[in-house]
Amino acid sequence: MNLFDRYITRNFLQAYLYCIIGFISIWFIFDISDSISTFLDQHVGFGRVLEYYGTQIPQILVILLPVSLLLALLFVLGRMSRANEIVSMLTAGIGLIRVLTPLFLLAVLTTAICFALNYSLAPHAEMARKLFFADKSATGAEGQIFRNRRDSRTWFIQRLRHNSDVFDNIEVLQQDSSDHITMAFLAARAEFQPGENAWTLSQAKVVHYDPAGNITSEQIEPSLVVRHWSETPYRLRSANMRAEFMSLPELRGVVDAWVEQYIALGKIPWINHVEIFENRGEMMGASNPHPHCQIWANASLPNLPARELASFREYQEQKHSCLLCDYLKLELQLNLRVVCQNEAFAVVVPFWAVWPFESLVLSKRHIASLDQLSEQERDLLGDILRRITVRYDNLFETAFPYSMGFHQKPTDGSAHEEWHLHAHYFPPLLRSATIQKFMVGYELLGSPQRDVTPESAANRLRETGDIHYLDRS
Ligand SMILES: [Zn+2]
Ligand SMILES: [Zn+2]
Repeated sequence: MNLFDRYITRNFLQAYLYCIIGFISIWFIFDISDSISTFLDQHVGFGRVLEYYGTQIPQILVILLPVSLLLALLFVLGRMSRANEIVSMLTAGIGLIRVLTPLFLLAVLTTAICFALNYSLAPHAEMARKLFFADKSATGAEGQIFRNRRDSRTWFIQRLRHNSDVFDNIEVLQQDSSDHITMAFLAARAEFQPGENAWTLSQAKVVHYDPAGNITSEQIEPSLVVRHWSETPYRLRSANMRAEFMSLPELRGVVDAWVEQYIALGKIPWINHVEIFENRGEMMGASNPHPHCQIWANASLPNLPARELASFREYQEQKHSCLLCDYLKLELQLNLRVVCQNEAFAVVVPFWAVWPFESLVLSKRHIASLDQLSEQERDLLGDILRRITVRYDNLFETAFPYSMGFHQKPTDGSAHEEWHLHAHYFPPLLRSATIQKFMVGYELLGSPQRDVTPESAANRLRETGDIHYLDRS
């Protein structure tokens, strides 16, 4: 690096640094005025506050660096031209491109830093923030029911604390093999000791029942240690997670589990189709109140995927291209029925939609199953599922019920190059949180009728926005 480059770089870096420090300070002042009451209320130590800001800064830098770069460039070039430095450099025989080269390289470096932060540290900022303020958001959090089917135990938890092994006001019902309640544990507090795999119940009451349901005995215990329960705090908490409230790293865990299950089940020789789906809400007949997925794997190809397979094949033979790739291209060009999209996925209300707010999630790349997703696409799948479920919830400001599921290539051993990975959302609601569409009468006997056009459904979903209505201040 010669004297000239050093001179320009030093001038620029000085301005750049001032801009970054200035912007971060402004952000910091706003953020601390928002959060100070929480820090004081919860007696958060100085170290924890530092740690919190350490996790947030990468995310802020991604936004601040490009703006600071622009401002610093304007400032440095402006100053140099005012002092006639650029003119003298040019008359000294140094070309304009040569003058700007160090600045250009620094801009490329900034882009690389932003890119790296965007894919490494920045996505974790959101989860860190959520965990940090969890106690605040947990006050008044809804109760939680957890059913342990294997051990016939049901937990009723009044208050959950995120990232803590303590649960408040719990009731645990123990049933026998014929579903009669044999024991009930009530406690003001349940705390898990990870080292011993034991639960400590404080101010507990243990009630025993006979087969007819009569109370046979009651004991009060100030502190009771239970060692044979298999439930862990993680299992109890994970049952309360819904896609729209999960951070991207958490969603990524769900996507990884789907891929793992699809591969493991698909490998079994007699299994030819793996269906991953979720039923949400009582309206859709969900038997468990907590969010959960189901996976059904069978030897035969079910009707709907079988019809899709036939259509994929027919189109492939006639047009030598992929049905859904071509369809997605048209939808993106028209841009009338697109609800939301990211780099790897798009959600559309298909023109053939039967349910008012039915939607189709399509991968932008031609792939046939979840296991063909790249690392980055797995993150983006979590992102798109959150975007669409947030929009659904926002539509009628309710926990929107639906049935959703993936259609992936059959696992019969052949490559199925014609298949295009997609997911369907079938929600029953029509006009409000309680008014649903019924597929009856003419729709059962004749053909389905649409109450809203797919274009207006897509438009309404698009306009509800990416921010969940419960997260709006
Ligand atoms: Zn395709
Ligand atoms: Zn399908």
